Amino acid sequence: MRLSQMLFVTLRDDPAEAEIPSHKLLLRAGYIRRIASGIYSYLPLMWRVLQKVSAIVREEMNRSGALECLLPQLQPAELWQESGRWDTYTKAEGIMFSLTDRSQRQLGLGPTHEEVITTLAKDLIRSYRQLPVHLYQIQTKFRDEIRPRFGLMRGREFIMKDGYSFHADVASLKETYQLMYKTYSRILHRCGLTFRAVEADSGAIGGSASHEFMVLAAAGEDEVLYTADGQYAANAEKAVSLPPDPLPTTYKKVATLETPNAATIDALVEQLQCHPSQIVKNVLYRAVFDNGRIGLVLVSIRGDQEVNSVKLSNTLTSLAPNYGAKKLLDLRMADANTAQEWAATPIPFGYIGPDLEDAVIKADPQIIPQWIRIADCTVTALQRFITGANCDQQHRVGVNWGKSCPLPAIVADVRKAQAGDRACHDPNQYLESARGIEIGHIFQLGTKYSQAMKATYTNEQGEEVPLVMGCYGIGVSRLAQAAVEQHHDAQGIIWPLAIAPYQVIIVVPNIEDSQQLQVATDLYEQLQAVGIEVLLDDRNERAGVKFKDADLIGIPYRLVTGRAITHGEVELVIRATGAKSTLPLTEVVRYLEKEITQQLAQ
Ligand code: ATP
Ligand code: MG
Repeated sequence: MRLSQMLFVTLRDDPAEAEIPSHKLLLRAGYIRRIASGIYSYLPLMWRVLQKVSAIVREEMNRSGALECLLPQLQPAELWQESGRWDTYTKAEGIMFSLTDRSQRQLGLGPTHEEVITTLAKDLIRSYRQLPVHLYQIQTKFRDEIRPRFGLMRGREFIMKDGYSFHADVASLKETYQLMYKTYSRILHRCGLTFRAVEADSGAIGGSASHEFMVLAAAGEDEVLYTADGQYAANAEKAVSLPPDPLPTTYKKVATLETPNAATIDALVEQLQCHPSQIVKNVLYRAVFDNGRIGLVLVSIRGDQEVNSVKLSNTLTSLAPNYGAKKLLDLRMADANTAQEWAATPIPFGYIGPDLEDAVIKADPQIIPQWIRIADCTVTALQRFITGANCDQQHRVGVNWGKSCPLPAIVADVRKAQAGDRACHDPNQYLESARGIEIGHIFQLGTKYSQAMKATYTNEQGEEVPLVMGCYGIGVSRLAQAAVEQHHDAQGIIWPLAIAPYQVIIVVPNIEDSQQLQVATDLYEQLQAVGIEVLLDDRNERAGVKFKDADLIGIPYRLVTGRAITHGEVELVIRATGAKSTLPLTEVVRYLEKEITQQLAQ
């Protein structure tokens, strides 16, 4: 392609709307333009990158035996009502765009396709003989994200590859899951990305085992915890670890102490000259279940540890049936500002004990009248500990679990693992932390959707049983931007060769010089003839501008038809390293052909 004929517009300065390097660079280099919050146009250069990523995804998915299809983006509400996700997706989380058609029927724009595919499977799959089967598509998804940001990283309209597999049993699901793990690893490797597969929380999609594929970059929204031996890696939302041992206290018996202005752990430690691991701190949450009931949650956790809200949500979801509900809709920390809504008497925030009375909860039919008391595993073994006295400006010391302060009925791991903790698989290993961008997520769904939507098949014994499912997603547009986040420098983008919009750019320093232009045009044609993707910068611009733009748009190989052509040579600059060399004109095509083939084969 000739740059003079492309709608090629670069920006000199960083656009105000962009915060992270990849977003700035894609805007500046003319790859994308913002149309509205979280909504972008992919300009011709970007579209080439996206098609290359899609082609790699398609090749690897096809190699795995999965079948490509294309499912509707407009999805009837009834399907989502059947699976029980309509209200959560359109109201509680509000992630799904919904609309009403001219016949007053409700529809949603697909954020994901479990419902559509399960309906298809229900229709098409009758017998175990048809299993296993795996369908995938590459398509635009819609999600009304609360905080669309970072350009294509978190858009409201974005490209995803999503695949769904159906099995007769869990063993078959696990086989496909392993195959997808390998397939995703190959895709990311081929796209030139440094990544880590980590254990992940299954979130709203549901199911059991799941892994996320994280592209490592400082701007990543997720925290990954891993051990140096390579045996453990998990999303911090899900990670487990051994907490440091608590320090013993010297208290011999229970006493209540005046602790003025010690509502925080730091202040209390300072005042009592104790260690945070000797304190049982108590954190309040307000949970809303799907039947409208409000539960007040009292979490007791060691003073040196923090609550992991994802683990807490999962614990509360599993408790939902105790309160006549199916799931948790909302969970947030309760504090003095919001307490009036549910408290009958003033709550001594900062001085709360695990045994705070149920009587402080307002009598209200919507509110569950007892605390949902949860002890994190870190507090069960503590002895002679310090905790709140349930009275303003007072703490108790020397407390043991027992009659005077009962251990909460529910004990669970609701603690945030953190860097520096010892690993569970080997206490000699310590967790380390890295930032990651979630590019892919694979799930063993089990029968969650097939049961809800009655998608069954007849097994070998002639029984009608629910299909076992897996689902696998990869963010195609997010991946493309993550590649820029991982591969750039002060001058611009450095595309990995496999997903670069063009492999080579030929820069003509002076297009008034007919010899320069002629040599460049010849090279342009010769390279194209052997299948190399070439951009020809034949714009009437200063050489400096062209070099800057070439660096900015990040084409892997740059050829310059400058002075060297008088000796029958051309300059070659490698974008990634900046390395410069000269090549005889007669060698250029052969050299680049070999280089590119070798690189792509790696
Ligand atoms: P996140 O936690 O980042 O919101 P998710 O768990 O909602 O992601 P999935 O539902 O598993 O994501 O979707 C599969 C893949 O689609 C993700 O791994 C990610 O690469 C991509 N993706 C999800 N949401 C977006 C978005 N708003 N913009 C761009 N890509 C996205
Ligand atoms: Mg999401």
